[in-house]
Amino acid sequence: MKMGKHGSEVVADYSKDKKRMDGRKGMDELRPIKIKVGVIPNADGSAYLEWGQNKVYAAVYGPREALPKHSQNPYKSVIKVSYRMATFSVPERKQPRPNRRDSEISKVLGEALQKAVFVENFPNTEISVFVEVVDANAGSRVACLTAASCALADAGIPMRDLVAATGTGKAFNEIVLDLNKDEEDAPDAVDIPLGILPQTGEIVLLQMDGVITKEEFNKALQMGIKGCKDIYKIQKSALKAKYELEELKLDSAKKAIKEEGPSQAGEEKAAKPEKAEKAEKTTKKEDKAKKVKK
Ligand code: ADP
Repeated sequence: MKMGKHGSEVVADYSKDKKRMDGRKGMDELRPIKIKVGVIPNADGSAYLEWGQNKVYAAVYGPREALPKHSQNPYKSVIKVSYRMATFSVPERKQPRPNRRDSEISKVLGEALQKAVFVENFPNTEISVFVEVVDANAGSRVACLTAASCALADAGIPMRDLVAATGTGKAFNEIVLDLNKDEEDAPDAVDIPLGILPQTGEIVLLQMDGVITKEEFNKALQMGIKGCKDIYKIQKSALKAKYELEELKLDSAKKAIKEEGPSQAGEEKAAKPEKAEKAEKTTKKEDKAKKVKK
């Protein structure tokens, strides 16, 4: 028996139990995931993701000239990730100033995203990615990575593929997908954050916390890859949902102009070309987003 990091007693026997501590029936089941892109008007691209209890925002700016100049790379764009947890995101108040864990996560997420973006297309520039965790319940780094890659696509930045990420590992003597906080606090817990480019299967994030046999690791890895592929579907439909909606708006704006004709006077008339212009801009953004391989 072990006390969780937050004082809660963590007891379960998954080999006997029919379900997991949070009610999930399968060891290979993900917590519910919802993604929405384009949620932050001030950013070039953004995404909001809910994953079980985790809630994260991702905002992308750039590519823009990297400053100071000595930070520029003449061969590629530098992706700078800033991972932050809100003070109220965890049961014990998180110190507002960034800690070592925040720096580590920012670094590994940046490295993972570098593999997905055509960074060589934007020499001397910087792409800034801000990920903010407002509610955390284990797996926040993979939630942030998943959201950040959607935000990059929303910003119209050309990418080889999205990065889909999940936690996988071991808890209560079973190999499990997407560990929640109680499972991460299990006495035998092994947490393996995993991120892949689903089209090629390339692994862009792989970390491990705990001790596991080779066989168990391979099983967890396979489970994780399958989980990432399911997450990929959710990411793609979140991106499609936004651009389908914008296409619909463009169509209706064009239809309205056609129906009402150029002769109609008044405020409404003046507003319409503006509407169409705005809608046309969105299609340009859509064209950029199409560069992300499906
Ligand atoms: P991840 O969130 O990627 O699984 P960790 O395994 O390092 O990262 O952390 C697991 C969980 O521990 C976090 O999701 C969060 O719920 C909790 N946690 C992390 N840092 C703190 C903190 N400073 N105070 C309280 N809980 C924290």
